[in-house]
Amino acid sequence: MYQLIDLPFRENELEPVISAETIALHHGKHLATYVNNLNNLLPGSGFEELPLEEIVKKATGGIFNNAGQILNHNLYFEQLQAPNDDNRPVGEIAKAIDEQFGSFDAFKEKFTAAAVTLFGSGWAWLASDVDGKLHILQEPNAGNPVTKELKPLMTFDVWEHAYYVDYRNRRPEHIAAMWKLVNWQEIDRRYKL
Ligand code: MN
Repeated sequence: MYQLIDLPFRENELEPVISAETIALHHGKHLATYVNNLNNLLPGSGFEELPLEEIVKKATGGIFNNAGQILNHNLYFEQLQAPNDDNRPVGEIAKAIDEQFGSFDAFKEKFTAAAVTLFGSGWAWLASDVDGKLHILQEPNAGNPVTKELKPLMTFDVWEHAYYVDYRNRRPEHIAAMWKLVNWQEIDRRYKL
């Protein structure tokens, strides 16, 4: 049985970038529903014993959608921390971003464009390949880079439930503020795994 993860921050700790109300809904309702759905779908599916990432790589339909959304949201929530106006990458990931994109600002511009222009519901991803090269991806719906043999490092959720309570239709404003919340120690840890 899958369990709803605990958040690494208090519900109001991401304010004013993300409200406590949004976190309560996003974690306590949306993610909890995906966890319940997957637990209902798994018995008899043949996927019961697989780790979540393997389910996402192999499953289709409802099992893929719910397992994907659990994996995506776990990576999303576990990379966030209280707002910092001068937030910047650290460690190996900082070096890799400078080398491959020229600067953090150039990377931010590219990633922001991917998040803002993604049509409909989905996820913008920073991922790395086996050589440590970085990739920015747009994945629709429950998509995750693991299905392309890439390692997920950082993600912005652009489903409307992630921002509609706080920003209504203003997705670009939400994305611009999200940079204050990224826990770059955690992104660097994932990159070095
Ligand atoms: Mn979401």
